[in-house]
Amino acid sequence: MHVVPTGLFIDNEFIPATNDATLELENPSTGGHLATVSAAQSVDIDKAVQSSERAFSTWKATSPSSRRDLLNTLADLIEKNAAELASLESLDAGILYRDSKGFHIPQSIENLRYFAGWADKVDGETLTIPEGMAYTRREPIGVCAAIVPWNSPLMITIWKLAPALAAGNTLVIKTPELCPLFGQKLGELIVEAGFPPGVVNILGGLGTVAGAAISEHRSIRKISFTGSRAVGSQILATSARTNLKRVTLELGGKGPSIIFADADLDNALFWAGLGITLNNGQVCIAGSRIYVQDTVYDKFVKEFSARSANAVHGDPLLPETTKGPIISAGQRNRILSFVDKGKESGATLLHGGTALDGAGHFVANTAFIDVSQSASIMQQEVFGPFASIAPFSSEDEVIAKANDSAYGLSAAIFTADLNRAFRVTEAIEAGQITVNMWGTVNANTPFGGLKESGFGRDMGKDALEEWTSVKSVKFNLMKR
Ligand code: NAD
Repeated sequence: MHVVPTGLFIDNEFIPATNDATLELENPSTGGHLATVSAAQSVDIDKAVQSSERAFSTWKATSPSSRRDLLNTLADLIEKNAAELASLESLDAGILYRDSKGFHIPQSIENLRYFAGWADKVDGETLTIPEGMAYTRREPIGVCAAIVPWNSPLMITIWKLAPALAAGNTLVIKTPELCPLFGQKLGELIVEAGFPPGVVNILGGLGTVAGAAISEHRSIRKISFTGSRAVGSQILATSARTNLKRVTLELGGKGPSIIFADADLDNALFWAGLGITLNNGQVCIAGSRIYVQDTVYDKFVKEFSARSANAVHGDPLLPETTKGPIISAGQRNRILSFVDKGKESGATLLHGGTALDGAGHFVANTAFIDVSQSASIMQQEVFGPFASIAPFSSEDEVIAKANDSAYGLSAAIFTADLNRAFRVTEAIEAGQITVNMWGTVNANTPFGGLKESGFGRDMGKDALEEWTSVKSVKFNLMKR
């Protein structure tokens, strides 16, 4: 049996935290104690940043082809260790083993290989100026940090690690306090892949301690943050108060799934259902607002409810389980508090609305129908298996409703009309819109939000540019 190291991963070694500070981890599917890991303190963050500073001068000078090869080796090792990584994500994050192994891990590998391919193509432009010529260089930013959430921890970490390292930065990663085990394993794989010490440091710890110390640190030049809007705005404010480090924010969402009457209803039911039940709706792009055209509304609602009753909840490691636990008792209670808010708003509970049996934190698939546009369950991110459904009659009406949100991360539309698809995708304010499907993520396609869903992009060439600084170099070729 392999034992995952529990220390902080700094300089390619696992070490205890200052004062032996620890985090106690719970298995959310049983409520029982799972493990104890080190919890980084402010001093430890400083130690990690110093390590990354030492590594930066050599890493940025490492040939792009060597960086490419190391990223590809890490991809190979993640593939080889997929079963263990998926088990770890199931044990502490409650993610279904088959989702982690079948989606999160392949997505992580795809991103590593995609950005490995970019490592030797981070080029600038040649420009003509009246004085002679100029060119631009895309240079690494320096010591950067990634602060990641608990809902897809490995995949989101790799979305940041792969382009950061391809571009020549060094990276301090703060793993989520509820589920840091993937990061402990990732540290081992970083060493096995052959990355020099300090290129990647991985620290578990509390957001209010370790995350806050990263925000405050004056030697960190950039933070790529994925998490809640509340914490994202704190990080941005701290950057403004300290060293104006660059900040990119991937925050929450309240994604609309819009079903027009001409859509293939069976297909729309499949994707709209997946959009709010995948990982128990603990997904930033969850399709948590479902707008259905009035002529097919009753039919959709009836079938949507029938399909959602099929979930089998239990141990996320087991193949028969289709619904894992909510990450924590706190999150479960938060989701259930929205059931009361839904009832108070006058909406009708279609199904669910309760905790499910078992010692872990299980919540039934829940949906309200006839939800008013102003209801808190139509406006606030629940981050659970919780759908708010409402009818609409016209295209203009549903576009206005979809855009009536503080968030702008994702949207899905379902229609057989190509012209309508073009019109609606253009009109909707979201960083990602899918047509006749929900929620795909691809390594070559930029991903991120508009409005209060944040700014900056993960994945795609746009993400690579986020991890570089551009420098203009100008030559005077004229005689004086
Ligand atoms: P969170 O904001 O509570 O925590 C995210 C990370 O920030 C964790 O590592 C946490 O330890 C850290 N943190 C907490 N307080 C901090 C502080 N004061 N300073 C610095 N760091 C701090 O979010 P969460 O509950 O872990 O994740 C759920 C949220 O993440 C949801 O809102 C979801 O929509 C969002 N999310 C967004 C995306 C996206 O790509 N847009 C992807 C996944 C999740």
